[in-house]
Amino acid sequence: MKIAFTASRLFTPLEEILHPLLVVEDGRITELSSITGNAVATNARTVDFGDAILAPGFFDIHMHGGAGLDLMRASAAELPRLGRFLASHGVTGYFPTTVAAPLDETYKALGRLADAIEQAASDTRRNGEVQAHPLGIHLEGPFLSHKRRGVHPPENLVEPTSKIFDSLWQAARGHVRMLTIAPELPGAMEVISEAAQRGVCVSIGHSDAELPIARDAVAAGARHATHTFNAMRPLDHRDPGIIGEVLSDDRITADLIADGIHVAPPVVKVFLQAKGQDRAVLITDAISATGMPDGRYHLGPIEVDVKDGKCTSNGSLAGSVLTMDRAVRNVTQFSNWSLRDAVRAATLNAARAVGMSEQFGMLAAGHAANFTVLSPAGEVIKTIVAGEGF
Ligand SMILES: [Zn+2]
Repeated sequence: MKIAFTASRLFTPLEEILHPLLVVEDGRITELSSITGNAVATNARTVDFGDAILAPGFFDIHMHGGAGLDLMRASAAELPRLGRFLASHGVTGYFPTTVAAPLDETYKALGRLADAIEQAASDTRRNGEVQAHPLGIHLEGPFLSHKRRGVHPPENLVEPTSKIFDSLWQAARGHVRMLTIAPELPGAMEVISEAAQRGVCVSIGHSDAELPIARDAVAAGARHATHTFNAMRPLDHRDPGIIGEVLSDDRITADLIADGIHVAPPVVKVFLQAKGQDRAVLITDAISATGMPDGRYHLGPIEVDVKDGKCTSNGSLAGSVLTMDRAVRNVTQFSNWSLRDAVRAATLNAARAVGMSEQFGMLAAGHAANFTVLSPAGEVIKTIVAGEGF
């Protein structure tokens, strides 16, 4: 069936198209144009979203769960529940993200996540059921700094070796697409270059590195930074450290949790100005409590208390209950960025950072018809996956 979607505006997100016409056939975009330039496709069913905006589905490269599900424990069969919840917030693709746990538990979790990724890839049409799909695994740990571990349990932190990295890789059956690592740890540089050679997005974070070490990590193959400012040696103007490198080096992209809790809004603005529209990426770092009432939840092996939107474990911040649509709206409130700029940081910039922009993060002919329909204020009206769900 051929469907023609129309709305008031569309963010590719590199461009804004007025009066867009998005034609979808067999789950893929076959045509993208402006109605002012072209006649409306005939022999297609038309779905008009009025004054709404069409944007690529959000891509969250750092999230631990939601809707009561913790990704270190969930089975492949449970993931569709999380997928539906994420889609209701505009997300169509995400990276399940691990936390530092005992290695044998981590291997088991990676096997389950690999099952879920393979299942989602082989079964893209689900009878009109709309859900975000897991697209690759983000290893947040175990190669993290003791000093900047956040809530990752110290007994589960491991010094990086290529051997351990390879066993994680094997357990995940090659689905590791992102690795957060503290570059100052002994053995880190070797693992950084090994992971980068396998096409993994190596991200520096949970780190107490001084600037020269962070810069060496970039030379070794790191190209991203994990939740900038959080779990990092603080920026000092005479001792800039890892943050000085992250904010000043145009060779790397960087992500941030824009919930207004992890980073104060004026510093969110500083981050956006430093990394710019090309390199700033939004993540949620959301945990199982997202979309659930206040209470006690799991983040892998960690118990987390959630109260008034704040997640803590023994007084330290432990992930968030942020949703990506809110992160996008927050950016427009914390800075002078337009809704399109903010959408770009949650879509194309994320896909580019992890090397997946050929297929994700952009609306273009040939891409899967995964998009979200936003009100002019950035509220999610609907999310379409593989052309279904309208
Ligand atoms: Zn995290």
